[in-house]
Amino acid sequence: MDYFPIFLKLTDQPVLVVGGGEVAARKIDLLLRAGAQVTVVAPELIESLITLANQGTIRYLQGEFAPAQLTGMCLAIAATDRQPVNAWVARHAEQLNIPVNVVDDRELSRFIVPAIVDRSPVIVAIASSGDAPVLTRRLREKLEAFLPQRLGVLAGLAGRFRSLVKARIEVPAARRRFWENFFDGPIAADVLAGRSGPTSVEAQIDASLQAVNATDRPAGEVALVGAGPGDPGLLTLRALRALQNADVVLHDRLVSPQIVDLARRDAERVYVGKAPGATHVTQENINALLVKLALQGKRVCRLKGGDPFIFGRGGEELEALAAAGIRFEVVPGITAAAGCAAYAGIPLTHRDYAQSLTLVTGHCKGETDQVDWDLLARPGQTVVFYMGLGHLDDIVTRLRERGVPAERAAAVIEHGTQSTQRVITGTLADLAQKVTQAQVTSPALLIVGEVTRLHDTLHWFNTTAPRADEISAFAFSNEGRLSA
Ligand code: SAH
Repeated sequence: MDYFPIFLKLTDQPVLVVGGGEVAARKIDLLLRAGAQVTVVAPELIESLITLANQGTIRYLQGEFAPAQLTGMCLAIAATDRQPVNAWVARHAEQLNIPVNVVDDRELSRFIVPAIVDRSPVIVAIASSGDAPVLTRRLREKLEAFLPQRLGVLAGLAGRFRSLVKARIEVPAARRRFWENFFDGPIAADVLAGRSGPTSVEAQIDASLQAVNATDRPAGEVALVGAGPGDPGLLTLRALRALQNADVVLHDRLVSPQIVDLARRDAERVYVGKAPGATHVTQENINALLVKLALQGKRVCRLKGGDPFIFGRGGEELEALAAAGIRFEVVPGITAAAGCAAYAGIPLTHRDYAQSLTLVTGHCKGETDQVDWDLLARPGQTVVFYMGLGHLDDIVTRLRERGVPAERAAAVIEHGTQSTQRVITGTLADLAQKVTQAQVTSPALLIVGEVTRLHDTLHWFNTTAPRADEISAFAFSNEGRLSA
């Protein structure tokens, strides 16, 4: 982050603006809206500023800028069309530690003025650190269109009730929930639509406040949420909502940090995945933690990679919650098979190649192997192995033993849907060797079936990244190991 975003209270604070043209006038307009005491220095002013000066709304010092004019100012803006003057203002302001903005010159500026959407008291500020003003403007247009016109009225209303609500509902979590219900509920909808007058609205808020039992701890609940395979864009709207409502977020290894970042700033984040060197939190401990947090009245978001009900042990967690009588909801996510296949350009079914699809865990060694390999060996289908990377040789052997031809196409997708995604295609005969060469790391998904051949023509994602086989050929030739 190149800039620290803040909102500055300027009511009755002295601000110096150097320059008397259109650009200065726009800044002055904004400063006056924020209640600042504006002094403008310039040899001459445009018409609109003369009017303001004559009305006494701004103070006008006619002439050239002199450093002494900065004394006592809490902010300065240089908006002349003469660069040396702007630079001079900036230098003196810096010396006095007065934050300065030089219009259209971020090098000389201590602060930049963002584009804003003003629904006062709600103000949305947007900046691109000075890199892309046109993009900033586009974003502003989008927000203008998206944010209800009467948002400010709603926020003002909430502001008037804030201290009353605080006095009436002591438990902070309960208070937050009151406000969440308020903003999601019918009163807010009426205000935003302009349907009801202020008196009836205030009476309604009063009534809903009366209905809240002041000392009640709110009941906790758990949302079991699928975060998808990695790309934050694949999160559902409902998942986003659950994340933002949560007091605590429990996440594991497969959930990307950008997604965890979408939680409320003050939400507690608990990592419960496996990490190299760290002690592994057992499933029993996770179940117990979920129950404990919910019993404390917290709203818990249990974030899982992909879909929580597909090789995610989500069912076990819900059983523990159900046994403890805790309310829960489940938000499905895009499972790795769907996400990886889409981003690899591999249709999981296709009329010419595959009429059925099986999702199976590749964690299928020894006595615990309950997989019906004869079924998986049949032609005309696609089989997706989760957690199969470490057992690739074993999987190939078992399929081959059941008569699957060596030339059956297959693919491994590493870090599917993420910027580091790689797709390695081959056949049962050579895939394992290619995967070893490419030094594929977890998470990776194995897809066995003729549909994987379509990757060659249908791949679309990350196409500018070097292909896995190119990377490995390069790495191996560099190390002089490419002999076989
Ligand atoms: N509940 C998850 C699966 C958890 S099992 C889901 O629905 O996707 C973990 C396995 O999922 C990994 O070993 C890997 O095989 C697969 N997987 C998850 N995310 C993946 C990704 N982004 N790319 C490739 N494989 C992934």
